[in-house]
Amino acid sequence: MLTDTHCHLADPVLNPNLPAIFADAAQAGVCRFIVPATQRSDFDAVLALARHPHVHIALGIHPWFAEAAADADLACLGTLLQQHPRALVGEIGLDFYGKQQTAAQRARQNELLCAQLELAEQHRRPVILHNLKATAAIVAAIRQTGFTQGGIAHAFSGSLEEARLLIGCGLKIGIGSLLLNPTAQKARRAAAELPLAHIMLETDSPFMLKNQTNTPANVRKIAETVATLRGIALTEIAAQTEQNVAQLLAFQTA
Ligand SMILES: [Zn+2]
Repeated sequence: MLTDTHCHLADPVLNPNLPAIFADAAQAGVCRFIVPATQRSDFDAVLALARHPHVHIALGIHPWFAEAAADADLACLGTLLQQHPRALVGEIGLDFYGKQQTAAQRARQNELLCAQLELAEQHRRPVILHNLKATAAIVAAIRQTGFTQGGIAHAFSGSLEEARLLIGCGLKIGIGSLLLNPTAQKARRAAAELPLAHIMLETDSPFMLKNQTNTPANVRKIAETVATLRGIALTEIAAQTEQNVAQLLAFQTA
């Protein structure tokens, strides 16, 4: 069995086709799903998915929506975390890709990240982190807020050194659809060399594939690629990553 630890099943591209998506995933041996939110307007759709057995949800505000996010949205997140003790916090993080960003925009992303790390710490939840070109700032935010609950650095695309910094903050490394691109050298190196105890598998569906809708069934291909890169059996990848997911989801709330 495998888990897609990052799939946007509440996205309008996937949401109307869930029965077929779950059936295809089951066929590929992908039987558990972690579904993050991206902004307050999709919290309801994500919460509705929590009714599916084998779906685990995360609630949070993605850095792309940092400027639009209001204090009331953070208050709403705090209330929902209280009401839903099994919800993780995500998708939160920093996206410093794109040179046209201003210092003020990055500061706003950082402020929103820190506020959500504090909420996650207060409610004792792991986080799902989006990180593009921002590893040092993410590590600084975790240290500054004293966040200790762990989680996943999703869609990892950095160097082994960056992966080790994130692991040092208690995070697992999300290995995903980048691996399906043979030229994504850094992602392939991370998948080949990081200790298996620190790896999570994910698709980031429906995103990440050119001219194609990504779906959780593709976790199977990602797991097979990791197995090939490491020269070990798919069953070994599945056993260890499932153990990692079980450990992540075993958090105890206050
Ligand atoms: Zn995502």
